Amino acid sequence: NLTERLSRLVKTMRGQSRITESNVQDMLREVRMALLEADVALPVVRDFIARVKDKALGQEVVSSLTPGQVLVSIVQKELSATMGEGVSDINLATQPPAVILMAGLQGAGKTTTTAKLAKHLIEKRKKKVLTVSADVYRPAAIEQLKTVTAQAGAEWFPSAPDQKPAEIAAAAIDHARRHYFDVLLVDTAGRLAIDEALMAEIKALHAQLKPVETLFVVDAMQGQDAVNTAKAFKDTLPLTGVVLTKLDGDSRGGAALSVRQITGVPIKFAGVSEKIDGLEVFDADRHAGRVLGMGDIVALVEEVQKGVDIEAAQKLAEKVKSGAEFDFNDFLSQISQMKKMGGLSGLMDKLPTELAAKAGQADMDKAERDVRRMEGIISAMTAKERRQPALLMDGKSKASRKRRIAQGAGVQIQDVNRLLNQFEQMQTMMKKMKGGGLMKMMKRMGG
Ligand code: GDP
Ligand code: MG
Repeated sequence: NLTERLSRLVKTMRGQSRITESNVQDMLREVRMALLEADVALPVVRDFIARVKDKALGQEVVSSLTPGQVLVSIVQKELSATMGEGVSDINLATQPPAVILMAGLQGAGKTTTTAKLAKHLIEKRKKKVLTVSADVYRPAAIEQLKTVTAQAGAEWFPSAPDQKPAEIAAAAIDHARRHYFDVLLVDTAGRLAIDEALMAEIKALHAQLKPVETLFVVDAMQGQDAVNTAKAFKDTLPLTGVVLTKLDGDSRGGAALSVRQITGVPIKFAGVSEKIDGLEVFDADRHAGRVLGMGDIVALVEEVQKGVDIEAAQKLAEKVKSGAEFDFNDFLSQISQMKKMGGLSGLMDKLPTELAAKAGQADMDKAERDVRRMEGIISAMTAKERRQPALLMDGKSKASRKRRIAQGAGVQIQDVNRLLNQFEQMQTMMKKMKGGGLMKMMKRMGG
């Protein structure tokens, strides 16, 4: 299954420090399968994989991660970037009544969503909301809207199967105007499949009503088919948003990616139950996590990357390469990076058990204490000493300097000596490695 697939993926290629053309192929194949299993449509998957590959190639891999982990995190970021641009609520910026037109296939959840939206607009936006059904083909559909509208606490405008949708629309908007409604929600008919007559009808309704929002309602369980439906509606109507329904079902929600890509408009809401309050503002980040099902790994990668100030590390590498001396200021910045790497113990919780076992909580506590002590010692140095480590290593007055520093930092002379040893080792390594493998070094420092 998906999780196994990706778990296998993240274990592969340990110890490689870059994502390259040769190691990325296998990984991308797994991601591709994972997305297809999550019901993302094939052409959308292709595009998506190409973008991920582009972003991934040449990406550095911090030594505590595998290229697979880093790739999963790139995939998730790209997923959430593709699926959304922050949260976008319903736009009501128009002369009231603001008309919202609901479009979608039969059974997609238009009628249910109309009522859910009415409730949302009443409760969250404090609006006076009217609903009307232009679904004249099924008498039950009009009754259904009446019932759910009552549940939402909104008002319902009567319509009947012998009326034309255009008539209904005109009467409803007139009523909404005269009774000062802020919003008019217009539910429409749907067919089981795309149908020319139906498309012409909703297009005419759109022209007549000039809605501020035209929402495409689509069933997340539709999976691969969602693409064709989305395309047909997009070609007919200037859509302004999508509502993805039935996300409470067992679909992995890959339709979100397809629909977002095809329509080019934001997914505004997600339907998460049949009940009237089963509507959520769509959260692309959370949804990306769901599609991929690799939340833990993404959290781990983010934590590690947050802690590692790649830029700072590179600057240091440059400095070392240029032959400039590695001084206590550099050392201090490395120590603080190491600390950021996760309060160390927090990070360990997320690492694979083999590694975590090696580290052990006691060790981690000690490492954290050591780091604090090292910072204290460097802080007790003068600016000049920090820039010229030689003053403490072989300067004439090194003994008295060390004594002064130990006193200032509240530690023993041995502690100062230990720090100087570590510093010297670091300096030597730094020269040898010419700035490469910084992360490894930082870890060695902690142990
Ligand atoms: P319409 O034909 O587009 O108007 O679709 P309906 O609103 O009548 O919904 C069709 C079916 O889907 C009904 O049984 C609804 O209760 C159900 N439904 C709609 N939205 C959701 C949802 O978000 N979650 C679940 N589980 N069921 C939903
Ligand atoms: Mg309906």
